[in-house]
Amino acid sequence: MGTLDVRPITAFKDNYIWLLTGPDDPCAVAVVDPGAADPVLRALAAGKLRLDAILLTHHHADHVGGAAELVAATGAAVFGPAREHMPVEVRRLAGGDHARLPELGLEFGVIDVPGHTAGHIAYVGHDALFCGDTLFSAGCGRLFEGTAEQMLGSLDSLAALPESTRVFCGHEYTQANLRFAMTVESGNSDIVNYARQAEALRAASLPTLPSNIGLEKRVNPFLRSRLDNIRSSAERHAGEALPTPVAVFAEVRRWKDTFR
Ligand SMILES: [Zn+2]
Repeated sequence: MGTLDVRPITAFKDNYIWLLTGPDDPCAVAVVDPGAADPVLRALAAGKLRLDAILLTHHHADHVGGAAELVAATGAAVFGPAREHMPVEVRRLAGGDHARLPELGLEFGVIDVPGHTAGHIAYVGHDALFCGDTLFSAGCGRLFEGTAEQMLGSLDSLAALPESTRVFCGHEYTQANLRFAMTVESGNSDIVNYARQAEALRAASLPTLPSNIGLEKRVNPFLRSRLDNIRSSAERHAGEALPTPVAVFAEVRRWKDTFR
């Protein structure tokens, strides 16, 4: 497995389109979740790059909206979730499949991560994870189509990846997520330290991403639903006992939905 280089292209208010380069050809690139075509086309022109492939994680417009225009402009191959309706023709992938990008010398495994949407997939390889709107740094996606049980299962599979795995998610939500994480778990100094780091990065207009799985396990309340202090905090918020990790996770997710 060769070296993967990842650069952010910003889109809309807080989306990231990830631009991937592999070891084989520095001019061949892939993008993950191009919600808009223009910023990608500008990056291609500026770097004299050739778009070979597009990886899509789920069907939301801010992740797939630029795909059709990019295919028309570049002829790039598109990979996407087998179980979702996509606006372009995709090579349909589900858990256990692989996305092979021979021009770039890269290959990614596919993990099913239902919860935010029903057929959401994530791509993992080269010590990197592209997880769309499933896992955010210090947070997770809203449950639009799936159940709390599904989402917790999806987050469990991501948490099981090596701790060094770099987390490239779809949005810059880290600071708001950390404010919530501090409320849920006020005594966690890892959250305080990470919030300081995130503030410095954002003040310099830099992404807080990638995060990594090891850090997420220390700061992300949604990966910590099985810990006693998270359960106690969720039970105080719910005003009732929460007997299972799924019940705790569901309460923390509901709490975040209305947190300001
Ligand atoms: Zn989404």
